[in-house]
Amino acid sequence: MAETEFVKRAVRESRLILTRDTLLGERWTVPSCLSLESDSTFDQLRQVIYRLNLRISDDKIFTICLKCNEPLEEAVREKVEGRVPPYVYRTKDRIFKCPRCGHLYWRGTHHDLVMGIISKVLELKGDREDHIS
Ligand SMILES: [Zn+2]
Repeated sequence: MAETEFVKRAVRESRLILTRDTLLGERWTVPSCLSLESDSTFDQLRQVIYRLNLRISDDKIFTICLKCNEPLEEAVREKVEGRVPPYVYRTKDRIFKCPRCGHLYWRGTHHDLVMGIISKVLELKGDREDHIS
């Protein structure tokens, strides 16, 4: 996506732009832009969590469609059989569906991995319990 297009989309959809491009804010009049200071993904995550004072809650993470930003809804299990891998269908109690694009989501190892990384970020600051419930 060209810079012009994603800046216009961010403004139109009231999104925050996260960028490593320190000059983006000077080239455009962007109401919400956070310039990430580090090349390290871990440090970038820490910067975003603390700069935006994010409250990380296990039941709130991964509740938005990654493709279209729509809040996910719990899917009716019988309707997704055959649309997810058999192992997922057998082992996951809850499967979620995007009402806009139909993409299906479930809590896999990725969820635990991300929550582990977030816990490490918050532990460095010493206030993990204030941010994770
Ligand atoms: Zn979607």
